[in-house]
Amino acid sequence: MSIFEKLAEKNHEQIVFCNDPDSGLKAIIAIHDTTIGPALGGCRMWNYKSEADALRDVLRLSRGMSYKASVAGLNLGGGKSVIIGNAKTEKSELLFRSFGRFVEGLGGRYITAEDVGTSVKDMEWVRMETPFVTGISRALGGSGDPSPVTAFGTFMGMKAAVQHKLGLDSLSGLKVSVQGVGHVGYYLCKHLYEEGAEVYATDIDLEALQKVEKEFGVKSVPIDEIYGLDVDIYAPCALGATVNDDTIPQLKAAIIAGAANNQLESESKHGVALTKAGILYAPDYAINAGGLINVANEMDRYNRDRAFSQAEGIYDTLMTIFKLSDDENVPTNVAADRVAMNRIDSMGKLKSIHLPRTNLMSKRDA
Ligand code: NAD
Repeated sequence: MSIFEKLAEKNHEQIVFCNDPDSGLKAIIAIHDTTIGPALGGCRMWNYKSEADALRDVLRLSRGMSYKASVAGLNLGGGKSVIIGNAKTEKSELLFRSFGRFVEGLGGRYITAEDVGTSVKDMEWVRMETPFVTGISRALGGSGDPSPVTAFGTFMGMKAAVQHKLGLDSLSGLKVSVQGVGHVGYYLCKHLYEEGAEVYATDIDLEALQKVEKEFGVKSVPIDEIYGLDVDIYAPCALGATVNDDTIPQLKAAIIAGAANNQLESESKHGVALTKAGILYAPDYAINAGGLINVANEMDRYNRDRAFSQAEGIYDTLMTIFKLSDDENVPTNVAADRVAMNRIDSMGKLKSIHLPRTNLMSKRDA
């Protein structure tokens, strides 16, 4: 398939190939859709087996960001970038500053952030070359660790799922299994504890597990037993693709609501399988949008309270998705995509009106 056919396949607007032999930079920036606003999405550094793999990944991920931003009600489009290379051995100030110059060259059409293989420190190098970067440290005026906001949004999404599926206003007394008690899982356990839920958790990091046992009375379970637990809610907060042919028959939970990305091994197959099994799935990119909401807030003088208050809206977003899923008789992951696309289509019709001349003048003078 030619590159333009690949662009046309999922309606991508633009791909930028960045090549800088002096810094060793080989990067691809993909802008999926900027109907609603500038394309925001992280920069992944990964040792891809081939350039074709890198291109496939950046196209897939950038489209996902358009949907995520749209569903979250943000005025942002979807983009993503990948730097081809080994994140452990090939990072340097020169590499990231060079990448920053390419981002700057896009004039704000693409805004980058940290992602798998890149860190806050890397983004601070990018920041030296362009203002179009988010996720820098709080000390430098950034939004810092997004995990508390992600966890709060996930908790609100879980409450929406419980209301929709079980008709309950509170999680008090419900049993929840949390897979992974890292950055997000830790704060999620805290909210669940404060709400009076009974929490079971697992993690390969025993120290992290002991911390939530001690602080929030969480009961720990072995890694493999997490799927078959007799609980009301399963919250994947570690890896992707944990909802698959092996695990779905084991699940006793009525609801899947967690922060992990790409929870369904196959979007088409396992969304349908969950509907058939009577399990309500809170689509991952809708429920875990708190992280994106947090960095998006950085672009307009970061305010932590505003970020939390926007993340609270994930409750309503999920209610909209669940209703559409019922009304149109489609799996919830399909309903989420429809909500996302509907908003992009609808905002594309925003009436274009001319600004009064005085405004134009003052903009030019500024
Ligand atoms: P993290 O690395 O801090 O935590 C993940 C935890 O999962 C770690 O404690 C790790 O030891 C554990 N883990 C790994 N393999 C496991 C296994 N097989 N079984 C059980 N536990 C295992 O990551 P995080 O920032 O908490 O993010 C968790 C998930 O949420 C990821 O999928 C991430 O992509 C997604 N997410 C995070 C954010 C955010 O704000 N941090 C935002 C959106 C989505």
